[in-house]
Amino acid sequence: MAKYRIEFERDKCIGARSCNEECPDNWEMKDDGKSDCSTKDIEEDQLECNMNAAKACPVNAIHIKNTENGEKLI
Ligand code: SF4
Repeated sequence: MAKYRIEFERDKCIGARSCNEECPDNWEMKDDGKSDCSTKDIEEDQLECNMNAAKACPVNAIHIKNTENGEKLI
């Protein structure tokens, strides 16, 4: 199992693009104007980029959880 798991409330997304700007490796804008991520299961080396995306989201639609201890990072 991956060390971290992204939980994305896509219904909240307002298409602000901040996630895509912060972490283009995983966040992409889709035709419906909302973003989506390529992978929800991430490892340590992908954490910083995805945390920056989550912090930049103006509607707090992106959450990241540590799957080993259940801690919610954001
Ligand atoms: S930053 Fe948040 S609101 Fe903006 S596109 Fe990404 S998920 Fe959607």
